[in-house]
Amino acid sequence: MTSKNESSQNKASLLDRWLSLNKAQDTKAGITRLPDGQNAPLSSGQQKLWFLQQLYPENPFYNYTEAYRFNGKLDTGNLVKSFRLVAERHDILRTTVSISNGEAIQVVAGTATVEINQGDWKGQDIQDLIAKESSRPFDLKAGPLTRLSLIRMAEDDYLAIITMHHIITDEWSLSILLDEWAAFYETLQQGKSPAKEALPVQYADFSHWQKAQTVDNTHLEYWRQKLQGKLPVLNLPSDRTRPAIPSFEGGFCTQLLPGNLSERLKGLSKQTNTTMFVFLLAAYKVLLYRYSGQGDILVGTPFNGRDQVSLEKLIGYFIDTLVLRSDLSGDIRFIDLLAQVRQTSLDAFSHKNIPFETLVKELKPERYMSSNPLFQVMFVYHKAPSLPAFGPDLGVERVPFHPSSAKFDLTLHISEEQGQLSATFEYAKDLFEHNTIERMQGHLKTLLEGIVANPEATIADLPLLTPPERHQILTEWNSVTAPIDGSTLVHQMFEQHVSKTPDNTAVVFQGQQLTYKQLNEKSNSVASYLLEKGAGTNTLVGLYTERSLELIVGILGILKAGCAYLPLDPEYPAERTDFMVQDAGVPVILTQGHLTSHLSDSKIPLLTFEKATAQTCQSPHAFSVEVSKDDTAYVIYTSGSTGQPKGVPISHDNLRLSTLARLAYYPEAPKSFLLLSSFAFDSSVAGIFWTLSTGGRLVLSEKHIEQDINEVANLIAANNVTHTLMLPSLYTLLLQHAKVESLSSLQSVIVAGEACMPSLCALHNDTLENVGLYNEYGPTEATVWCTVHKVRKEDASGPVPIGRPIANAQVYILDEKLQPVPAGVAGELYVAGAGLARGYLNRPDFSAARFIANPFSDLPGGKMYKTGDLARFRGDGLIEFLGRADDQVKIRGFRIELSEIKETLKQLEGVRDATVLLHKAPGAPLLDNQETADTGQLVACMQGLETDKAVGLLKSVETLSESELEYMLEGMKKSNK
Ligand code: AMP
Ligand code: MG
Repeated sequence: MTSKNESSQNKASLLDRWLSLNKAQDTKAGITRLPDGQNAPLSSGQQKLWFLQQLYPENPFYNYTEAYRFNGKLDTGNLVKSFRLVAERHDILRTTVSISNGEAIQVVAGTATVEINQGDWKGQDIQDLIAKESSRPFDLKAGPLTRLSLIRMAEDDYLAIITMHHIITDEWSLSILLDEWAAFYETLQQGKSPAKEALPVQYADFSHWQKAQTVDNTHLEYWRQKLQGKLPVLNLPSDRTRPAIPSFEGGFCTQLLPGNLSERLKGLSKQTNTTMFVFLLAAYKVLLYRYSGQGDILVGTPFNGRDQVSLEKLIGYFIDTLVLRSDLSGDIRFIDLLAQVRQTSLDAFSHKNIPFETLVKELKPERYMSSNPLFQVMFVYHKAPSLPAFGPDLGVERVPFHPSSAKFDLTLHISEEQGQLSATFEYAKDLFEHNTIERMQGHLKTLLEGIVANPEATIADLPLLTPPERHQILTEWNSVTAPIDGSTLVHQMFEQHVSKTPDNTAVVFQGQQLTYKQLNEKSNSVASYLLEKGAGTNTLVGLYTERSLELIVGILGILKAGCAYLPLDPEYPAERTDFMVQDAGVPVILTQGHLTSHLSDSKIPLLTFEKATAQTCQSPHAFSVEVSKDDTAYVIYTSGSTGQPKGVPISHDNLRLSTLARLAYYPEAPKSFLLLSSFAFDSSVAGIFWTLSTGGRLVLSEKHIEQDINEVANLIAANNVTHTLMLPSLYTLLLQHAKVESLSSLQSVIVAGEACMPSLCALHNDTLENVGLYNEYGPTEATVWCTVHKVRKEDASGPVPIGRPIANAQVYILDEKLQPVPAGVAGELYVAGAGLARGYLNRPDFSAARFIANPFSDLPGGKMYKTGDLARFRGDGLIEFLGRADDQVKIRGFRIELSEIKETLKQLEGVRDATVLLHKAPGAPLLDNQETADTGQLVACMQGLETDKAVGLLKSVETLSESELEYMLEGMKKSNK
């Protein structure tokens, strides 16, 4: 091992060796001269720059600037003169672009036309000064394309800024220029006249020669192989959405890597027989993989295209680009990735003799105006060349400068100067905020430290978060707590208001109402009737009731009896109700007399409100069944992926703490709450218990009220509604169609259940500016809500966050290895804390898969729920919802797993396979990969299904309306043709 290391240390880097080998072996004929009188074409690289500059005429993105500081005795006359001598020697420095016969050509001026500015420093910031020079656009037709500004900072202290258009230069050119400039200057200083040694070939010769070259098929074949298949667009999580037309404005952010880290990186790179280029490129790829979640990573890298000896000392645009594609999928170890990247780099460099522009033309990748073909990010490894001497009396040093443009989404520049490594991210301001890139620097460093600590680690396991960041994400952003006072359960909180304000209205429906006292008495009657009929603690009572006062009487009565309620909405298809009743093993159903006929097939005993309330309860004021906090309060069913819905039992403690979190968060309790949701959705729980536990009035809407928006508005006005909760789609309709005056009593509107669109925020701001709009998020499994965001004005212009965790809830955003992802990066959302259910009813397998051990909890046996929602933290800790990780969709607030429909369809005789697709209406305001759909947007496509069978089956799947069914069947018919 040791001798191998030593020998590899002695070797030149693999790439360097290979590069020189390639040059020596170059079999191509040398560069021929451009015949006299013939127009010089642009080189392929120049063509690209010319094209881009025509597309964005005033944009200085292809200006190239370097700045130097001269200290000591400077003869400015000779410095300028020697600069002109360089321009005389290199035609390219006197070149402009013209059009001849419709083609862009190079035109070389006879005399040195460089722009020289001289002046005294006026106290400006030096970086600003350079930036200003660097951002003055060039006119490619008029020229000159080179300018030198010489600023006297003080006696014996000068700043020289060289700016050129990239079409005539590159990084290597500047070294050549500087060497020649220094040599000419020294000769002049010695009083001699410099020898005029002509260059063997000029840039125009090269471009002429290049144009005559044919595409080498072996190289092309390599690239065809390497770049086959659909090339991914790197999905780096950004702060802003990509504009249709890029501005190319760039920012940069630099960090010096600590000396010992640099040393260890170099040591490991030698030990693994890889160059620093390959080593750091591999690390960069890991960073990109972890940020994007994509395994197919393409990175561009520039290289010096002067691959013939006669070009070595020539100024001009010779930069070419290689694309390096790596496969980071499949849990690979860093050292294995390293070997892969090394091989890819070696292969790529040995097939580099195909200009990038030619490659793009040949491969014809899909092109988007707003992103680059083949790759979106770059990697550049610079080894800063030492500066030439300008004679004994003059010191010169480079002034670090980064232009304020970015041609790619992100470029990582690694520089090595005097053994010290530094990393600079150049980023597109169209996409990123500076502090996002600053955090990325932290992640790069943590990652590199992780790699040197354990290069055998799989790349998915390498650390990314800095310790303070980890603490912030896991602890600080999860530390909202509210006093978990006493142990009063929700129905007992209601009872407290019965004593305090017995005559206040508790519940209103269709002009009828019950006071707190009346509601209490009636629910006590229900409770004692249930107990009389044999129900006891934790008995699950099916509540089959229409929207009515009885509904609330029933819920409270069931809780008071120590039982739990299972909402059975008579609007649901009978098959669905039967399923839930069977699955939950409901021993008794509480219903209204006129509904008993719907349930006549059922063998389960039916109890009616009529009978329950006919008798007066023995203890009308309080009801004293011992209910424990761990007893179940209700069970709500959600859709399931295997074709069957699953029940979620919620305990009294879950319900109590979920309600207390409302008291802790909202500025006011609802005086009058309009309940729109069906009681089969857990969002109904918010309104019912928040209102009744704080002494407010609960207003129930009639069924299907959402079909007449004006009715909703009337109800709000008539009942002085202060609070309500609805789907964002319904709230949009309300704002669009209702008279604003009828909404004047509102204080807080909560939208929940689906993503809230920025357009809704804008509409709300325009219409009800003084009303609080809240975006609540949460799955049934975590009791109604677990994050909340008070919508602000600025949310109208970007994604609307779902906010921060509510009191006593913890939210984690994790990758597949259950590691927290950095702010900005997408992961799956997990929930823990007070609202968390214990699991699904009678489904140990599902419960085990979804309610998993919480690795961040100190509590023994602490669990967290895997929501299947994708989300990310923003830099300020607010959470953004990004869609689903699976095929679950929301239709009119219903959670539907498409696979549930698929599995059900597959049970049909004669059906081999089925596909269920979500059809998004054109123009629907949906997020990318966001599954909220409007009525009738579900299309099932399948083979050989008889229509009536399909209808029957689909009816049992979910509560789909007739029109939705029709729509789906239409889809099936079409796909069967
Ligand atoms: P449910 O269990 O029926 O309450 O549905 C919970 C699911 O609805 C979540 O897992 C999300 O997919 C979605 N959801 C709920 N609230 C929001 C919200 N504010 N923004 C986006 N999606 C939401
Ligand atoms: Mg819900």
